[in-house]
Formats: sequence, C-alpha cells, structure tokens
Amino acid sequence: MNDASQPHRPASEPIFEELGIVRDGSNLFHQTVDHVLVAADLAGLKHHQRIILAEPKNEIMVHFPVLMDDGHHRLFKGYRVQHNNALGPYKGGIRYHSRVSLDDVKALAVLMTMKCSLARLPFGGAKGGVKLNPRELSEDELRRVTRRFCSAISHQIGPHYDIPAPDVGTDAQIMAWFADTYAQMTPELSRQDVQGVVTGKPVAFGGSVGREKATGQGLVEVLAAMLPELGLEISKIAFSLIGFGNVGSWTGRLLCERGARLVAVLDHTGAVREDRGIDPRHLDEHVRRHGGVVNYSGATAIDEAEFYATPVDAFIPAALEQMIDAEKASRIAASVVVEAANAPTTPEGDAVLLQRGIEVLPAILCNAGGVTVSYFEWVQNRSATSWSAAEVDEALRLHMQAAATRTREARARYDCDLRTAAFAAACERIGEVYDLRGVFP
Ligand code: GLU
Repeated sequence: MNDASQPHRPASEPIFEELGIVRDGSNLFHQTVDHVLVAADLAGLKHHQRIILAEPKNEIMVHFPVLMDDGHHRLFKGYRVQHNNALGPYKGGIRYHSRVSLDDVKALAVLMTMKCSLARLPFGGAKGGVKLNPRELSEDELRRVTRRFCSAISHQIGPHYDIPAPDVGTDAQIMAWFADTYAQMTPELSRQDVQGVVTGKPVAFGGSVGREKATGQGLVEVLAAMLPELGLEISKIAFSLIGFGNVGSWTGRLLCERGARLVAVLDHTGAVREDRGIDPRHLDEHVRRHGGVVNYSGATAIDEAEFYATPVDAFIPAALEQMIDAEKASRIAASVVVEAANAPTTPEGDAVLLQRGIEVLPAILCNAGGVTVSYFEWVQNRSATSWSAAEVDEALRLHMQAAATRTREARARYDCDLRTAAFAAACERIGEVYDLRGVFP
C-alpha cells in the first residue's frame, strides 16, 4: 500500500525535474501525471515511455469571435489537448464551462488515455473545451460558438485522428452541429466517413442507442462487479449523488431500477434529503423545469454540511473535478465512494478516505461506460450498421466487467489501492504497445 501521508512523490519527481516541470501540488494536471507515473513505475514502464506520458503530444489553443444575439461580437477561448495516440485515434469530450483552463483540459486528456486503455478500446486520449457558461447563452449563440470552434480546430481532428464527444455542458445537439460543420468543411470526405468525427450524436443523425445513459449504466455494471467484495448488494444500498446532470440523473435512475435507494442529492442550486428514497424520474422532471434540485417538493432541503454527513452505503460524486477535499472526505459517512465524475477527489481527500477505510472506486473505471458506447457508435458509423439496444447493453456489460476484473487483478498484482491499480492496468497496455512499436524514427 502507498503511504497515505506521502502519496506519490518519489516516482514522479525525477521526471518532473528532467522535464523542467515545477511541481504545484494544487495543479490537477501535475496531480494526475504524478499518479500515472507511480502506476507506470509499478507496471514497469521504461523511462522513455514514462516521459512520453508526462506531457500531452499536442496542446491546441484557439481564440475565435462569435456574433451574439444583441449584435456585438464576443471573443471565445477554446482548447483541444491530444495527450496520447499509441493505442488509436485521440478520443475525448468537449466541455463548455466558465472555468475551463489549459491545465485542467490537459489533466482530463491524460485521464482519457488511461480510461480508454483500461477499457481496452482502440483509442488514445484527448479533451477539449470552450470557456463559457452555457446557461448564459441562447441556443442560436451556442450553435454559432460550436460551428466556429469546430471550424477553428477542423484541421486537427477527424474520424481517424481525433474524435470529440459530449462532456460537461455539451450534449447530442451540440455534437450534431459539430458533425454538420465538419462535413461542410471537408467536402472531399464521404458522408459515411464524416459521421464518425464525433460521437454522442442524436440517434437520428448517426448516434448509437444507449449512448445518452451509457456513463450511468457503465457505473451500475461496475458496482454489480465490485460491491459484493465489500459485502454490499446493489438492490439493498442507499446512495447519495453530487450532481444531477446527464451522469448523475442516469446513475440515479438505473440504480433505483435495480432496487437501490437514493437518499440525498447536492447540486449547484442546493441539496435535498429523503431517507425513504427520492424518485429520480420525478426529481429529473423538476431539475429540467427549474434548473436544479432546489425547491424539490419530494424531499427536505438540507445544507451542504448535512449532505456530506448523510449516512449512505455509496457516495457518488457525478459533477466536477476536485470537489472532495480532505475536509469533506473527513465528513463523508459511506462505505464506498464511487467516482462518476472525472477526478472528483483531491489527493488530500483521497488520503483521508484511505485512512478512514472508505473504499474509492476510481473514475477511469466507473465512468468508462460513456466512451465505451462512443466506441460502439464509431464502429457503427464506420460499418454503416446500427446495433439494437440489447446488443449495446450486452456489449457494455461485458466491457465494464472486464475492466473491473482487470483493475481487481492489478490491485492483487501490485498490492496497491484501486486507483493506482486502474492506472497500472492502463499503463501495462500502453507499455506493451510502445515495446512493440518502438519510438519513431
Ligand atoms: N466525456 C466523456 C468522458 O469523460 C466521454 C468521452 C467520449 O465519449 O469520448 O469519458
């Protein structure tokens, strides 16, 4: 086991020094690379493989003007970070959020490399974003931003090179505008070829059935595989959620369909609790109408402190990064933290959970269902076929079970926590491929 007070320093420091990276403990990119390097060490990756993973291959930053509804032009900042493509085309979402920053996008791109490798998908890792608050823009403005951003990066993406998808603040409609814009800009490509440039599209426009619920559904499959060793059963657990967007609401709905009980939800508008169980469909209707959980009549309003202290079996953060710091981790009253969001736990929070004996199921395992069904969508686009809901469900179940088994086996092999094990299982495959390919020239 790693020493909780000194989580990951030794393995990464020589590489950071060599690359001239001044390590900042509060920087999400540094924290992420730090942890990946610990795992890469365990998995026996060679020096050149470890330095490759410590930096993204390409960091693209663009500024572009967009006409707003009131007639003035606003300049937007967009990013696409392509971390690694040893296993296949770059893959990862595009987020629209007011706090998008280069370092965060870099960290999320690293996590995509790890996630795709752990799930054994033929993809590398990337991430993108535009710094904006989608709630403040009209639909027309969002469409113009999306088209202009796509055109700004159109030479750096492609159905065989880098395939974006939805993430926080983006959805199937935005992917449809994105795919259409890319098609207009690449008349030399066939219609069929062009469709696979993004995944998470509407089903009528080349999307896959089951993509919208895929992240939540994958998480439920991971829980089905991992809970029994913790002495828990899905049908009997009580759980709480941070975030009730796509991932949170689908996770809530699918877990409740399996008999679990949703007792508390926190989002950017407030928190609610009902120990007899909240109906996630009902709450979803409320959130769609009112923009958040605040004033939901089916549960009692509580404050943030009570939300964290609410006793549950599974505590599921499904919102943004870095929400669970040491202080919040010290208050969580759960047996297991299930990371639906990317990087929701700070290293300090992680150390506290470890000390308190609270198991953490890591994000690159728990939320790999989204990109897995993105892969199915891309396969369907490339082969001009469409799978049935039952085919998608079954293939997703098998992929998630295999990823869970791989993570558990790596934990036994390396005698480490599950997060390190998931990274190590991901690194093993990347190391194997670099051994076979070598480094050009
Ligand atoms: N944005 C999702 C993630 O973080 C999905 C990415 C994809 O489907 O490419 O995993």
